[in-house]
Amino acid sequence: MPEHFTKNTISATFWCNKCGKATMHRVDDRRRGPCMVCMERLIPSPAVAKVSVAEQSALFGDSLVRDRRGD
Ligand SMILES: [Zn+2]
Repeated sequence: MPEHFTKNTISATFWCNKCGKATMHRVDDRRRGPCMVCMERLIPSPAVAKVSVAEQSALFGDSLVRDRRGD
């Protein structure tokens, strides 16, 4: 039987066979979700960080700097 959690639970510690240790797992719809450590391994974080920095700069940084220099 799957473990059940309260509606507000978004993560809990479980044993992960892939990691070989107890890790934080996501809790989806009150059930045990994927291992967060394994998910981070699958998603290369440098690439994610690069995109978000570029987007932030495009959204805020560049236009703000240009506006201030404009006068
Ligand atoms: Zn894992």
